[in-house]
Amino acid sequence: MVVRICRPSKGAHFIHPVDPAPRTAVLAAGFQETKLARVFPLGWNGRAARFSRSSVAGPLEQVLRVARAGWRVEHSIVVFTYPGERGLSARERESFWKAFEVPVFEQYLGLNSELLATECDAHAGLHIVSGYEDLDLEHDVCACGNQAPRLTRGARIDELAALLS
Ligand SMILES: [Zn+2]
Repeated sequence: MVVRICRPSKGAHFIHPVDPAPRTAVLAAGFQETKLARVFPLGWNGRAARFSRSSVAGPLEQVLRVARAGWRVEHSIVVFTYPGERGLSARERESFWKAFEVPVFEQYLGLNSELLATECDAHAGLHIVSGYEDLDLEHDVCACGNQAPRLTRGARIDELAALLS
């Protein structure tokens, strides 16, 4: 087995969906640490729990761990999704709302954790940040005023599921 010891690369910049950004525990590797964003590459653990944060950001399974551990978050939750995965479902959003009682934002990241699209305050899809083309983009101007086209999120599927349940 070869163990490579190398300096951590600088990583992607975490951009919180809310401005001004709160202190955030980022529960994923591949991010650059900033004054407001503390990075926990191993995910949720005792170290992350001791960090005084207002917001938590990470992949779905990490945010679920935070919810199950019963940790409070005052400001917001940011859930990372990746290419080839589905977006956050209405059911997951609802369970996070029940667990944390704070707004939930989805951020769609590339494979190097770069931000591709981000959900805004209007929660009406994910605004494209850069260089992403998709036939299914929503081009109407969003209620938040941002004119960047949006990735729609499984609204139709979720509505159907709600009708059938
Ligand atoms: Zn918007």
